[in-house]
Amino acid sequence: MDYNKEIDYSSLKTFIDCRRKFFYQYILHLRSESPSIHLIFGSAWHYGLEVVYNIMKEDPKALKLAIDCREISTKAFTNYWKVEGEEHFGHLDTYPKNPGNASNMYNSYWNKFFIMDRSMTVFGVEMPFTLLLKSGVSYIGRMDLVMKEFDKIFVIDHKTSSIISKITASEYEASLQTKGYLTAIQAHVDTLPRIIYRTARCQKGSTETEQFEVFINKAMNERFLQDVNWWSEQVKNEVAAYNAYMLDYHATGKPVDFRSYFPAFHGSYSASCTAFFSLCPYYDICAEANNPLHYAEHAPTGYKFEEWNPADHEAKITKKLKEIT
Ligand code: SF4
Repeated sequence: MDYNKEIDYSSLKTFIDCRRKFFYQYILHLRSESPSIHLIFGSAWHYGLEVVYNIMKEDPKALKLAIDCREISTKAFTNYWKVEGEEHFGHLDTYPKNPGNASNMYNSYWNKFFIMDRSMTVFGVEMPFTLLLKSGVSYIGRMDLVMKEFDKIFVIDHKTSSIISKITASEYEASLQTKGYLTAIQAHVDTLPRIIYRTARCQKGSTETEQFEVFINKAMNERFLQDVNWWSEQVKNEVAAYNAYMLDYHATGKPVDFRSYFPAFHGSYSASCTAFFSLCPYYDICAEANNPLHYAEHAPTGYKFEEWNPADHEAKITKKLKEIT
């Protein structure tokens, strides 16, 4: 991604959390060699819902019962799991993150929402959006689902979670994702949309889905635009500082001294290193070298270079899914 032209929610969120983490992940493209069951399970869960909502969008009367939706979602989930998860996790006891429990979760989800969703119109599934900022950078993203009921627009975002805490609703309200979605919709329609987070519990004892509705007002949208514009300028500044350093670095022709000063993408430390009770994926290598370019030529043990491109990834998965269905 050219960060002088565009930025998406994930990379901006990472930049705000820690600029050094952003550098490792989005500039050096260093990633863990171990696949994440949380990411794969979450993607498969989204795919199972996406398939059903696409059917509803094509033909609102095609699906008559919640159980039909559960069957279709479960089948789609299982296919996704076969191509992405089974190879890595098939031999492990991954309960509750496995296709059997996903079926329980779809059962809860569709029993709760099928009737409600049938009374609305599916407007978009995996709907892309672009917000052009004053900095000249486009803030881009995709919304899981956009539904309409008369003149009201609802953005629906799907999550899976092991806990619903007392601050879950506030977390959604405060999130960059919420403000980005709602500001993007409001830029195109003359109404204040709402966002609904549907959070499916993935626990051994519970597979219920909770729904949280979040509103933001026009003033908050305006402030979001000002803030995200400022942040996009900070990203551009860091990229410029890095490019200037690289020009000097290439001119010397010397290998990087891992203890030397790196004048861009400084670390945030403290909370960002240990967020959500787990270590930052770059914790060890970040502690080891002052200058992250130390890892630019050879990925350290346990990491690989892989540029994350959602469009390429989606094309690869679609091809594999076609092969098995
Ligand atoms: S360990 Fe901390 S400072 Fe280093 S990249 Fe991760 S979050 Fe940033």
